[in-house]
Amino acid sequence: MKNTLIQYGAAAADLLLPRTCIVCGRKLGIHESHICLYCISDLPFTFFWHREHNPMADKFNEQIQKTLEAAPATQIPAEKYAFAAALYFFSQGSDYRNIQYSLKYKGNISAGRHFGRILGDRLASSVQFKDADTIIPVPLHWTRKWSRGYNQAEAIACGIALKLGAELRCDILARKKRTRTQTMLSTEEKARNVKEAFIVKEPCKNIGRIRHILVVDDIFTTGSTLHACFTALRRVFPADVRISIASLGYTG
Ligand SMILES: [Zn+2]
Repeated sequence: MKNTLIQYGAAAADLLLPRTCIVCGRKLGIHESHICLYCISDLPFTFFWHREHNPMADKFNEQIQKTLEAAPATQIPAEKYAFAAALYFFSQGSDYRNIQYSLKYKGNISAGRHFGRILGDRLASSVQFKDADTIIPVPLHWTRKWSRGYNQAEAIACGIALKLGAELRCDILARKKRTRTQTMLSTEEKARNVKEAFIVKEPCKNIGRIRHILVVDDIFTTGSTLHACFTALRRVFPADVRISIASLGYTG
């Protein structure tokens, strides 16, 4: 009875505003949401959540090591190999780029949560990620969030938190510097642009029980944004608190 009502509801909503696939634009069936069955079955999944060492994690850990090596020898803390996973390979030439564009520029928050849940399902089946207890989205500067009205990373993080049974915490990390858009910058410029951009808010409540943090962004390109978040968090959280990262898209 409940399902029938939902189907009637979906059919009625389609008459008012037809629902279409975010990737190919095809009209969606009653059992499909945001993406059609053809597009989801062809989605170029990375399967990074099943590989502790993968290209994204290697790239990320390289940056962590570089920062550690630059620090004075006496201050080098022990650092575990950080876990990293993305849902799919992002490519400018593919229609799957519409997933990112729809989240970032068209305000499709509900799609962000949906793809977050898809990624969350994968992470929940992964030895590396299943015990993550705290999900932190990469924050926007408050002026940008105010003008855009939402944070796309927060929508994704919300879907992931739901599937992992973890707590979504948007009150821990803040962006103190309004940075330039990263799109047109070189790798070095990107790293410089976001360095010191994030800060852990003081005083930060109820962080004593946190054992495994997962920082979430919409896309991983050079990893410099997530690395800047990692650095800010590591200043507050000791080495026995694991800090991992996840994103929807990955560009190698
Ligand atoms: Zn489609």
